Amino acid sequence: MTARVAFVTGGTGGIGTAICRELANQGNRVVTNYRNEEKALAWQAAQKAAGFDMAIVPGDVSDVASSAAMVRQVESDVGAVDILVNNAGITRDTTFHKMSALQWQEVMRTNLDSCFNVTRQVIEGMRARKWGRVLQISSINGQKGQYGQANYAASKAGMHGFSISLAQENAKFGITVNTISPGYVGTDMVMAVPEEVRAKIVAQIPVGRLGDPDEIAYAVAFLAADKAAWITGANLAINGGHYMGW
Ligand code: NDP
Repeated sequence: MTARVAFVTGGTGGIGTAICRELANQGNRVVTNYRNEEKALAWQAAQKAAGFDMAIVPGDVSDVASSAAMVRQVESDVGAVDILVNNAGITRDTTFHKMSALQWQEVMRTNLDSCFNVTRQVIEGMRARKWGRVLQISSINGQKGQYGQANYAASKAGMHGFSISLAQENAKFGITVNTISPGYVGTDMVMAVPEEVRAKIVAQIPVGRLGDPDEIAYAVAFLAADKAAWITGANLAINGGHYMGW
C-alpha cells in the first residue's frame, strides 16, 4: 500500500507533535505548517533525531491566501493531502465583558476560519480521489463552556458544526469527517498554569490526572485509519471523564 499524505496544522505544538509522530508510525507521510522558519527547522531536526522524517511548509491557517499557498506547496513537495488534521489553535482568555474585538477575532480566525481556509483547499481533491479523512481538534470547553473562554468555546463548538455538515456532504465520496475534543492535556501550555490551579483542574478529572498528548494522537490515528470508514460526524471526547456527554 502506498503511504498516505497526512497534513497536520500546528504540528510543531504539544499535541500536534504527538499527532505527527503517531501518523508517521502508522506509515503515513507527514507534513505540518510553520510561521517561524527557525523554530520549525529546529523542530524538524529534533524529529529527525528521534527517527521521524517530517516535511514542513510555511503557512498561516488564519489567512485564506496563505492557506491556499501552503496546501499547494504540500502538494508539490509531498503529494495530495489524504488526511487533514485541523489542529492549530490559540487561546485569548478573558471574561466576555472585558473581551476586545481583536481577542474574539484572533481566536475565531485561527480556530474556526482555519477549518474553512485549509479544508476548502483539500476537499475537492479528496472527493475526486474518493478517499479522505478530515479531523478537527476541538476541546472539552467547546462542549461544556468555560469561564473566560467565550471566544475559544464558541470557536471550538463551531468546529463540530463544521464536522457534521461536511460529514453529510462527503460521505458518498469515501471521506469521513470527525471531531476530537480533548480535555486538559499536559502540554507546555497547561503545565505553565500555576500548580495550585492545575491541582484544582485535576481534582475534577475522574481518572485523576491530565491527559498525555499521545492519548490524543492515538485517537487521531484510529479515526484516520481505513478501518474507521464507518465513523463519520462523530465527536470523540477524550478527557479522563472530566465531561461526559452523549
Ligand atoms: P500549542 O500551543 O502547543 O500548539 C499550537 C500550534 O498551532 C503551534 O504549532 C502553533 O504554531 C500553531 N498555530 C497557532 N496559530 C497558527 C496560525 N495562525 N497558523 C498556523 N499555525 C498556527 O497547542 P496544543 O498542542 O496544546 O493544542 C493543539 C490543539 O489542541 C489546539 O487546537 C488546542 O485548542 C487543542 N486543545 C488543547 C488542549 C490542551 O490541554 N493543550 C485541550 C483541548 C484542546 P506557532 O508555534 O507558530 O505559534
